[in-house]
Amino acid sequence: MNIQNTNLNFRAGLTSRMQSEIHAADVRKISQEFAKNGIQTDFKGNKVVAWCSLMCYQIIKGLNTNYGLKLGLPNGIFLDMFMHEFAHVIHEENAINKLGGKKFVEDTNNALIPFNLSTFQKEYKHLLGSICNYAQYSPFEAVACDLTKRTVAGIDKNSLKVQSNFIKKSPYENKAFLLNLFDFEAKDEQFRLLHRFWNGKLI
Ligand SMILES: [Zn+2]
Repeated sequence: MNIQNTNLNFRAGLTSRMQSEIHAADVRKISQEFAKNGIQTDFKGNKVVAWCSLMCYQIIKGLNTNYGLKLGLPNGIFLDMFMHEFAHVIHEENAINKLGGKKFVEDTNNALIPFNLSTFQKEYKHLLGSICNYAQYSPFEAVACDLTKRTVAGIDKNSLKVQSNFIKKSPYENKAFLLNLFDFEAKDEQFRLLHRFWNGKLI
C-alpha cells in the first residue's frame, strides 16, 4: 500500500466524514492514547493507519464495555495492522482461553502443516469461499475474514459507532451451540464450522 504521511491517497470505502477525521488526526496523540492503555504503536506518522487502528480499538473496547464481553485486545499495533489483524488476536485469545496455551500451540502447528492445510482447503472450499478468497486457506483466515466482515457490517457509516451486538447470534458467541436448537442460521454448516474454529477445534 502506498500511503503518504500527509496526503491521503487511500479513499476506498471512506465517507467524507471519515476523510475529514483522518485529515484532522494527530498521530502522536493517538499513539499516546494507545500507550496509556498499555499498547505500543508504530504508525510511522501515518494518519490513515493510526485513525483506523483507533476506530478498531474503540469498537472492540465498546463491545466489551457495553455487552460485558471479554474480546482480547492487542499488545501492539504496527503499520500493517487493521481490523483483520485484530480479528486474529480476538480469535487466538478465545482459543487459548478454551484450550490453554500449550494445547493451542500444538493444535495450531498441527493444523498449519502443509498436508493438513491442503486437506482443509479441499474439504472446506465450498463452505468458506463465500466469506472471502483467503477464508479457505486456514481456519484462522476463515474466522478473521468472517469476523472482520461482521464488524464492518455492524458499524453505522455516519456515526462510526457499533449499532448492535453483532457477536450475539454469531458463531463467536460462546453459547452459539445453543442456537443450534432454535436458530436457522446456526443450523448452517458454515456457521457451525466457524464456531468450531473459534473454539480452537482447528481440524
Ligand atoms: Zn489473516
